[in-house]
Amino acid sequence: MPVLATVLGHPRIGIARELKKALEAYWSGASPAESLMATAQEIRTRHWSMMKQAGLDQIPCNDFSLYDHMLDMAVTVGAIPARFRSIADPLNRYFAMARGVQDRGAGIDLSPLEMTKWFDTNYHYIVPELSADQSFALDPTKIAAELAEAQALGIVPRPVLPGPITFLKLSKFADNVSGMDTLDLLPRLLPVYEELLALLSGHGVTWLQLDEPCLCFDLDPRTAEAYRTALGRLAAAAKRPALLVACYFGSIGENLALVADSGCEALHVDLVRAPADLEAVLPALPQTMKLSLGAVDGRNIWRADLEQAHRLVRRAVTTLGSERVMVATSCSLLHVPVDLDAETRLDAELKSWMAFAAQKVAEVRVLADAAGQEQPQGAVFEQAAAALARRRAAAAADNPAVRHRAEQVTESMSRRNTPFAERSARQKSRFDLPLLPTTTIGSFPQSKEVREARSKWRSGALDGQGYQDFLRAEIRRCIERQEQLGLDVLVHGEFERTDMVEYFGEQLDGFAFTQNGWVQSYGSRCVKPPVLYGDVARPRPMTVEWSSYAQSLSKRPVKGMLTGPVTILQWSFVRNDQPRSQTCRQIALALRDEVADLEQAGIAMIQVDEPAIREGLPLRRRDWDEYLEWAVASFCIATAGVSDETQIHTHMCYSEFGDILPAIIAMDADVLSMESSRSRMEPLEHFRQHGYPNDVGPGIYDIHSPRVPTVEEMTTLLQLAAEVLPVERLWVNPDCGLKTRGWPEIEASLANMVRAALEVRARL
Ligand code: GLN
Ligand code: ZN
Repeated sequence: MPVLATVLGHPRIGIARELKKALEAYWSGASPAESLMATAQEIRTRHWSMMKQAGLDQIPCNDFSLYDHMLDMAVTVGAIPARFRSIADPLNRYFAMARGVQDRGAGIDLSPLEMTKWFDTNYHYIVPELSADQSFALDPTKIAAELAEAQALGIVPRPVLPGPITFLKLSKFADNVSGMDTLDLLPRLLPVYEELLALLSGHGVTWLQLDEPCLCFDLDPRTAEAYRTALGRLAAAAKRPALLVACYFGSIGENLALVADSGCEALHVDLVRAPADLEAVLPALPQTMKLSLGAVDGRNIWRADLEQAHRLVRRAVTTLGSERVMVATSCSLLHVPVDLDAETRLDAELKSWMAFAAQKVAEVRVLADAAGQEQPQGAVFEQAAAALARRRAAAAADNPAVRHRAEQVTESMSRRNTPFAERSARQKSRFDLPLLPTTTIGSFPQSKEVREARSKWRSGALDGQGYQDFLRAEIRRCIERQEQLGLDVLVHGEFERTDMVEYFGEQLDGFAFTQNGWVQSYGSRCVKPPVLYGDVARPRPMTVEWSSYAQSLSKRPVKGMLTGPVTILQWSFVRNDQPRSQTCRQIALALRDEVADLEQAGIAMIQVDEPAIREGLPLRRRDWDEYLEWAVASFCIATAGVSDETQIHTHMCYSEFGDILPAIIAMDADVLSMESSRSRMEPLEHFRQHGYPNDVGPGIYDIHSPRVPTVEEMTTLLQLAAEVLPVERLWVNPDCGLKTRGWPEIEASLANMVRAALEVRARL
């Protein structure tokens, strides 16, 4: 029997971001629901046909989503929070849960469900919101419709569902529930899964994929037990398809037995993230189970090392027999762009090293086909090997100076000259700022004019000088407005940047950019991560000109503004031929030079943003220390080269700080800002508990909403903060950058923010 080829899921957004456009047209009222549905169906049909044509044996279905797969599952099991139940139209209700509804005139204001990052990716899922008396009821509308659609096309679909434990673990209770664990709801949830299994089986489904990436976490005994119960019960269901339990984004490790003993028919493991899992799994898998090998990387854009992957497949086939082996991508292809063939401007050599979703589907097929051969033969294997050899040779010869320098990094390079207390005293006398100094996080509106000027410049309609003059005028206006508002520490506004990672990627050696390499971030939002393929070097200063110009316009300090090494790493597709730590260090060294140049140019405060440090945290605790060590060291290498009088700021956006605070302390930024208005200063409590020693700027203005916060609200938040940390170490700022907001609301909000600071100062 041949080895089966499959993938765990496909991108949904479409090669030309058709789904994004259709969604946004529908939301704005420009087009009716029917056109959105038609586009969605077209996208599904196209992807299914592509996968069928590529010869996949099992094709994912129900992996498509109009917004998010966790939200879909919440709807499928009837977990609709009470506030949305009065919305009769299912589509309106669905989007209301995702995005909220606000109609001031009608007095309607429904806040959406929360959104958060999907494991260690930059994809955000909707967090199902459950109540203490939660009941579940099956609504199979979506999955049944997509199944019928796929079957009508003559394909053999394998529906995908978030498994019950991952679903519950990633859900949360509404605010008013305390003392309960979402797993308490498992007995109520399982009957709905059983009902769904029976229904799918009745519709001719032979295989079902249950996504259980939570199997890659360290599980507490309670969760492990829940796995035993849930998988055991579903496996015992009278009428059901065969079950593939998919574990990805890490190692299944000691959780293996939870699946192996369950009675389910197949296990999927992620051999890209956890190659060692194979040897652990092979002897432990019962005769009745198949193994799906996640051998092709679903998280990155490199062409597979087919020979190496083939060795894994052979190892599995010779041990288990071909009838028990499937070849797959490591995880869903959701995290990579659709088709490399659409890239017409990429360097041909670089392109030959890469693979997007369509190419990965083909790789899976080739690997499955070659499973019977001891030595794989054929043009595909030869081409892959040749591309890999060229890539290795190019890497080896890339930039010896950069590599040499990275090897020479000494411990002292990541340490400031003196402890914070001393630096802080010098900085205080240099800047002479009031208590509770006011500032912003960096960006000001990327208005229509700014985007138009940039696109004119890119297309050649505006020359370099014209664009530069335009940006200078924007900076000048921005500085004037901040002075008028009475802010103490200013920023230049980041008008020259489309995106905080792309801008630096474009200036650095070692990065390339795609035309269509879009990846869904959330809902209709996509990002186009740069491709970090080579040694990273900085041919010339990247921001000095803008920052110096901005500083020349004001006597108040203007912060230099950089994106940190870990965030650049985390939000790019990075090379997989060396450890991430090494790549990160190269970025850090390039940034260190930029920091030095800014300092040299008289920029006295430099902010290095690291919103993605927390996101990059490995799933397993045993891997945390190693990661945090190099991540923090990279930040420090970038920032610690300055004199005592230069003040280093960082912004960490929304991060859960609790369990990583020692690492945050080790970053030793003079000032750390973050989001905290919605959680009402909650992060500060952790700072106090861990004795965080440096300055902190907890956000007091929620920038995710167009609402103008009142002076009173903000003084309350400031006072809350001052009860937790000494007021001498507090700064006053919004939650995050202001690039998505409009000027009128910003001016009103910042005026209130400054007033709030004045009021609290006056009371001290
Ligand atoms: N300096 C950036 C800005 O203001 C920070 C963005 C972020 O935290 N993601 O836009
Ligand atoms: Zn932020």
